[in-house]
Amino acid sequence: MKPFLTILSAPSGTGKSTICRQLVKKRTDVFQSISSTTRLPRPGEKSGKDYYFLTVDEFKAKIQAQEFLEWATVHGEYYGTSRQVIEDLLEKGIYPLLAIDVQGAASIKKKMPDAVLIFLAPPSIESLKIRLEKRKDAEADRIKRLADSRDEILAAKNYDYVVVNDDLEKAVSQIDSIITAEKLKVSRQDLSKLLPAYT
Ligand code: ADP
Ligand code: 5GP
Repeated sequence: MKPFLTILSAPSGTGKSTICRQLVKKRTDVFQSISSTTRLPRPGEKSGKDYYFLTVDEFKAKIQAQEFLEWATVHGEYYGTSRQVIEDLLEKGIYPLLAIDVQGAASIKKKMPDAVLIFLAPPSIESLKIRLEKRKDAEADRIKRLADSRDEILAAKNYDYVVVNDDLEKAVSQIDSIITAEKLKVSRQDLSKLLPAYT
């Protein structure tokens, strides 16, 4: 079976990173792709683990060299997914998990229609505010991220699934089930191999 990309998008602070960390622990067939960005690392974030932190010039050089499968400007900074990393994962039969914004998700769906798009929604704007505060982002960043959340939530209608991240364990389990069900779709199976006696 050809692996597909699973894309998880959500307003900043909803819980994408937390959910991705738990999901890759739970599933050996899924691996999270590490993006590149020009934003500064938050306390505790490491290059090569959370993101590849690049300068604007380094990022632009990679755009020129067509090294990104997709890239976008989000909250005033560049973010992008490495084409090579995704190709290597697919080649190895691993299912890439991407926590990217709504522009990146739309651009991937155009190139790879079999990608699965999951929108993660906060239970309320109030809880989103509290989660952003908990992460101790700079106040200006927090205001920008909260203001951008409205447009991001409107883009949920273009996704295949929506999961509300109220109870963390439940949200992880729902996303886990979506990936399992998508893998079982007839359209993704090679029936002649699966049911050789009947085809
Ligand atoms: P994102 O990657 O979407 O920006 P994070 O994963 O960094 O969001 O989560 C933001 C904050 O919200 C973190 O402090 C995280 O522990 C917390 N959080 C995540 N999911 C939940 C949840 N279901 N309930 C309460 N807090 C949560
Ligand atoms: P943060 O700075 O809070 O980690 O991320 C800000 C936004 O950028 C989030 O919506 C996150 O999903 C998005 N993002 C992270 N990596 C990528 C990427 O490679 N491509 C795109 N398009 N968005 C990304």
